[in-house]
Amino acid sequence: LVVLTGVDKYFGDLHVLQHIDLTVHKGEVVVVLGPSGSGKSTLCRAINRLETIQSGTITIDGSELPSEGKALANLRADVGMVFQSFNLFAHKTILENVTLGPIKVRKKSTAEAKQRGMELLKRVGVDSQASKYPAQLSGGQQQRVAIARALAMDPKVILFDEPTSALDPEMVNEVLDVMVSLAKQGMTMIVVTHEMGFARKAANRVVFMADGQIVEEADPETFFTAAKSHRAKDFLSKIL
Ligand code: ATP
Ligand code: MG
Repeated sequence: LVVLTGVDKYFGDLHVLQHIDLTVHKGEVVVVLGPSGSGKSTLCRAINRLETIQSGTITIDGSELPSEGKALANLRADVGMVFQSFNLFAHKTILENVTLGPIKVRKKSTAEAKQRGMELLKRVGVDSQASKYPAQLSGGQQQRVAIARALAMDPKVILFDEPTSALDPEMVNEVLDVMVSLAKQGMTMIVVTHEMGFARKAANRVVFMADGQIVEEADPETFFTAAKSHRAKDFLSKIL
């Protein structure tokens, strides 16, 4: 579903993504791990065309992402994104946050978008907050709204970039629970997270990055118990 072939990305002289080959199949949950600065966020942003790449190709469901215009908006709608900072529209209500994209990009009627929006808010457990503004919600609630907003576009894949790392500890699980249930329902997900519990419970595969390269890939159990590379072992010794 998501195929990266020979992707290179530079920031000036810095070779941030070095010839990345990665295939994520439909329904697969891939957890991306790696030390700070290894290129995890850049990888997510490149998949979504928030960053341009210098060489290689990235396709979503067979189509290469166009670089601009309406075609980009449409294809980008297929790729949901949930960031560390919740990035909700501060001056829109929770329900408006979830209905805006479907109305503007997916051309849904307001009534249809609202009905679906309420269903999704219910699914993530924040339907009672629908008429409030983001600042009135806890971090965990805001992040669940961000997930509902991504789902509202009916994306083919959702990218999560450290979705729980800005949250107070007691709110981490309420967000992870939503993500685990999405994974179980067959959503294709690429998740940058240091939450090993999530990786163990929900990931089909762990991809370990260091210095802009994919150093190692394995199923979670194998990765956590029998990582092969020196870099991965070193990383695991620091976080486990
Ligand atoms: P973290 O775990 O800290 O979030 P990361 O693996 O997500 O790290 P990236 O944010 O992808 O790492 O950054 C990869 C490298 O690219 C880092 O060396 C970073 O300093 C550099 N970098 C990121 N964004 C830019 C930018 N806009 N301009 C220049 N360099 C950048
Ligand atoms: Mg990052």
